[in-house]
Amino acid sequence: MIHFQNTESFALQLDREDPLAGFREQFHFPPLGTAADPLIYFCGNSLGLQPKGTKAAVVAELDDWAELGVHGHFKERLPWVSFEETLLGPMAELVGALPEEIAIMNGLTVNQHLLMVSFYRPTRERFKILMETGAFPSDQYAVQSQVRFHGFDPQEAIIEAQPRPGEDTLRTEDLLALIETHGKEIALVMFAGVNYLTGQFFDLPAITEAAHRQGCEVGFDLAHTAGNVPLRLHEWKVDFAVWCSYKYLNSGPGGVAGCFVHERHRMRPDLPRFAGWWSTDPKIRFEMRPQLELQPGAAGWQLSNLPILSMAALKASLDVFHKAGIENLRRKSEALSAYLLFLLDGMTSPKFSVITPRDLQARGCQISLRVFERGREIYQKLEEQHVIGDFREPNVIRVAPVPLYNTFHEVWRFVQKWQAIIEN
Ligand SMILES: *Cc1c(COP(=O)(O)O)cnc(C)c1O
Repeated sequence: MIHFQNTESFALQLDREDPLAGFREQFHFPPLGTAADPLIYFCGNSLGLQPKGTKAAVVAELDDWAELGVHGHFKERLPWVSFEETLLGPMAELVGALPEEIAIMNGLTVNQHLLMVSFYRPTRERFKILMETGAFPSDQYAVQSQVRFHGFDPQEAIIEAQPRPGEDTLRTEDLLALIETHGKEIALVMFAGVNYLTGQFFDLPAITEAAHRQGCEVGFDLAHTAGNVPLRLHEWKVDFAVWCSYKYLNSGPGGVAGCFVHERHRMRPDLPRFAGWWSTDPKIRFEMRPQLELQPGAAGWQLSNLPILSMAALKASLDVFHKAGIENLRRKSEALSAYLLFLLDGMTSPKFSVITPRDLQARGCQISLRVFERGREIYQKLEEQHVIGDFREPNVIRVAPVPLYNTFHEVWRFVQKWQAIIEN
């Protein structure tokens, strides 16, 4: 454990000793600050910054299109028909999966629906979905609409796990007890990995194990988790997971999403699913047969041919992640957030509180601050002083120092600004 100090020179020293410091150079920083007071971008949990390699990677595919037209599908360098092959390994590393358990396709919510088609198969006795209260709205709408699609009433069919009164985050023991109590009625546990608002990182292996003991399927939304904390989806036997790539994974706005389906479901023609020509075995895809020959693994949930420009952007970012290593990134991330908490704790201000769990195992990059009054105004002042995080209704300011491109000095500078604004 590092013995932290609240001085600028100490923060700068941590940066000098940071083995990952060089990766910052590989990103574009929006020129929204000044030379004396450069922008502090703590919003990689919402839209990651652009890697400097992205433009060239996208332009290379545009050039191939210009020069080869339709022959680009079978070109020598990164043929479009199988473009995903070079992304599956690096993506699998980030979430602890086998490459065959990964597919890169669509948007997050689309993938969530496609996998719920297969893994939410309610019966009269077992028709409920367990999710965390205050889940991201898209997840709530997706789950509600799936429940209705199967003819059930969301009021009855959705169980929300709640923190105890007066607490901000869920206790694992309460969640596990809830699974045990209602397990036989629950068809699917559909939880976030890291909650978008509180930054709480749930105990995914414990949830999975408890749910499986009750015979429930388990899916995770890893929008705020992939690229943030290391995962072991395969080892934990998670049934499926979905995530977007434009947050921690820096693939650009609306970037193509990921999904995971566990190896034990690799060949399950019995599972209902929505299919398309990209679900079929690639060896015979272009024989244009009327019958689907399902391909094994997560790729069997693909429908359409791949969005190459978006995949090229994602590849540029995954290359950076692969070089840095997710375990190394996690070590730095833990130190960054611990330093941020140390500095905030030094303020002993009654005007805000940290709602993200203190326990390292229960948080990732993001620290969420509840401001008791004037939250929006305080966030506005931060932006005026060249800090980008974000404000979420009704009173939460989220800041996420990410290990690929943020520094300890930025954490220190942020707290200087925060203190001046909050105590005014
Ligand atoms: C960001 C986020 C989404 C966004 O869904 P898209 O389909 O990518 O627009 C959904 N769920 C969670 C938990 C998120 O954090």
